Amino acid sequence: MVRTVIDAQTSARYNLKAMILGVHVSGSGKIYQALDIAHKLKCQTMQIFSRNPLQWRATPLSPEDIEEFKLRRKKFKIDPVFIHISYLINLASPNPRLYQGSIRAYVEDIQEADKLKADFIVTHMGSHKETSEEAGIERLTQALNKILEKTKDSRVGILLENTSGSGSWLGYKFVHQKEIIAGLKEKARVGLCLDTAHAYLAGYDIAAKEGLDKLLAEIDSLIGLKRLKLIHLNDAYGKLASHYDRHDHIGKGAIGLEGMRRIINHPKLKNIPMILETPKDNEKSDALNLALVRKLSKN
Ligand code: MN
Ligand code: MN
Ligand code: ZN
Repeated sequence: MVRTVIDAQTSARYNLKAMILGVHVSGSGKIYQALDIAHKLKCQTMQIFSRNPLQWRATPLSPEDIEEFKLRRKKFKIDPVFIHISYLINLASPNPRLYQGSIRAYVEDIQEADKLKADFIVTHMGSHKETSEEAGIERLTQALNKILEKTKDSRVGILLENTSGSGSWLGYKFVHQKEIIAGLKEKARVGLCLDTAHAYLAGYDIAAKEGLDKLLAEIDSLIGLKRLKLIHLNDAYGKLASHYDRHDHIGKGAIGLEGMRRIINHPKLKNIPMILETPKDNEKSDALNLALVRKLSKN
C-alpha cells in the first residue's frame, strides 16, 4: 500500500490509459457491499459515506467487515477509495459543543478510514453561522490543526471540497482554501476536491472554456493544482451564482454536454480521479451517467 502523501503526483500511482472514474455509492447493508456495486458499474474508484450522514452515533465496523472490505477492494481493483464525511460535522461552528463534537467525530472518521485503508476523506468546508468568514476560517484552520496532530500517524489524506456558497458555508471561493492551508502546521496530507456543480453555482462559469481555464488558473496560483486530488463530476441544476447546492445529471444541467466534455478531457484534469454525485432517480441512473461520461471521454 502506497503511503498517501498529497504532494506525490497522483498520476504516478494509476494507470493513465483510462480515466479513473467512479460514483458515490450510498448503499445500506454491509460496507463491503459498496465495492460490489462499484465493481458492477465497472468503476475504478468510489466514494462512500463514513457513517450514517444524518446520525452522530455510528456503530463501529467489525474486524470481519473490515477484512472483507480490504479483500474485495483488492480483487476489484478499486483505487483510490474516498470517504465523504457526515454533513453534521461543522469544523467552523461557533457553538463550542458542536465544534468539539465535530473535531471528535472527524478524528474517529479518520481512524475508521485508516482501518479500511481508504486513501482520502472528503469534507465540505464548515459554516460560520453568521459570525464572519474570517472567524469561521480561523476556527476551521485550528480544528484541522488539532485533527492533523491527533492523527499524525495516519495515511489518510484530507480533501477540502469547494461549496456553492449557500447560507454561511465557507469555501465557495478558493481564497478560503488558500488561507486555511496557509494556517496549517502540517500540510502534507491536505488537498482539494473540486465539485464542478458547486463551482458553477458559486459563480465560476465553467460551462465556458474561458471560465474553466480561469478557475484552474485561480486554483493553481492560489494553492497549486498538484493538491487537487479529486473531481466531483456533477452537472449543476440552477443558474450561475445562484448558490443553491443542487446537482444534475451529466449533460442535463447548466454546465451541459459540451461543458462536461471539456472538463472530462481537460489536460490538467483528465488524470485526476472523478466521482459522480449525480441524482439517483432510479437504479439505472448511475449506469447511464457513467456511460455518458465514458462516451464523452476521448481517452
Ligand atoms: Mn460533498
Ligand atoms: Mn461534492
Ligand atoms: Zn453538492
